[in-house]
Amino acid sequence: MSKRERNISTEQRLKELFRDYYLKAPLHLPPDFNLREFAFQLFGSSGYIRHKAFLSEAELRNFVVQHVPKHMYFSAAKYLDPARPNMDEKMRIGTDLVFDIDADHIPKCEEVLQVLYLCPRCGAVIEKPRDTCEVCGSKLIEYQHIPEDCLEEAARITYLLTDVITNELGHKIFTITFSGHRGFHIHVQLNEEEGKMGSEARRELLQYLLGEGTELEQYLVRVVKKRRRIYVKPPPRIVEGGWRRRIALFLLHKIQDYEIRTFIEGKKQAINTSKLTSIADEINKLIQEAITAMRIIVDEKVLIDLSRLIRVPESINGKAGFIVKRLTLDELTNFKLDETLSPFASLELKILPKVNMPKLRLLGKDIRLKRGVSLRIDGALGVYLALKGLAEIIEVL
Ligand SMILES: [Zn+2]
Repeated sequence: MSKRERNISTEQRLKELFRDYYLKAPLHLPPDFNLREFAFQLFGSSGYIRHKAFLSEAELRNFVVQHVPKHMYFSAAKYLDPARPNMDEKMRIGTDLVFDIDADHIPKCEEVLQVLYLCPRCGAVIEKPRDTCEVCGSKLIEYQHIPEDCLEEAARITYLLTDVITNELGHKIFTITFSGHRGFHIHVQLNEEEGKMGSEARRELLQYLLGEGTELEQYLVRVVKKRRRIYVKPPPRIVEGGWRRRIALFLLHKIQDYEIRTFIEGKKQAINTSKLTSIADEINKLIQEAITAMRIIVDEKVLIDLSRLIRVPESINGKAGFIVKRLTLDELTNFKLDETLSPFASLELKILPKVNMPKLRLLGKDIRLKRGVSLRIDGALGVYLALKGLAEIIEVL
């Protein structure tokens, strides 16, 4: 295949670029991958190839290089017979926990999310929801733009979730990945017994993460009268469990006072009552903030569905062309969407924009597109714009 060959479709070029990556991609599979169902979505098709199972990584790679999927997944569930086409016949052993934290579901981000409707025929840019162009009547291309700081907010919530998974749920083994588009996934591998957890218990876990039914009153610093004794109920501490611990984490981010800090950190057993009373209002205000800030918003369907599919770590997310990248806790803390997350960063592409797009910040660069005016662009951005349907790839340089 010659990359310089002209007259091949953008889809074909994308497929070739994906294939080049999959020839050597370090796909990361769980040790029990042969008990899982694999599923694929191919280019040019909205359907799935499902009920695949693989006995070795080599067998999977052969399949992937041959079919070049746009998206690839394995099941959160483990089955005795994962390749059976009927779900009941697969004989489910158990289902892992999967958390999906999406930037566009975070309340703060929903407000700043930019949605543009772009006309490929006359170049109109329309900012209110429409199917067809008000100027020429053509079908519009919808483009959702997520500002980079939203993704960083999603990373913060994901980090908080890892803390809850470790310290409140007691799980030590989990994989954190950037989804390859606009969020993060955490896959907690459960043993056979834990994996039997049903949908109802998973729903309760979701409510707990969200803090539903959490009564503010019980966490506040306040004066309590008990058998004629009067004392001040202290704030939550890090050494406590559940939401008290989560609130304490938030307080430690905000409170400077040394004495109060060491108490919240659990390094000091008692606290001076008059001091506590004097700053009770300030602490209570923070506790109120904590209940909102420390809510962990995950995708409900993903957590509750017992036969959910998970994106294969180190595969490419065909919605944006970034790698479903495994992250360490450090990498999660410092997460930034940049071209290192694309397998195509070292390429240079010539693209032809299909639409006009106002200046937007993508991968740390200001990008503006003019319909029909070709430009040279780095591979990460070029593939992104092509997968979004905003540009054609005319040449791999
Ligand atoms: Zn138009």
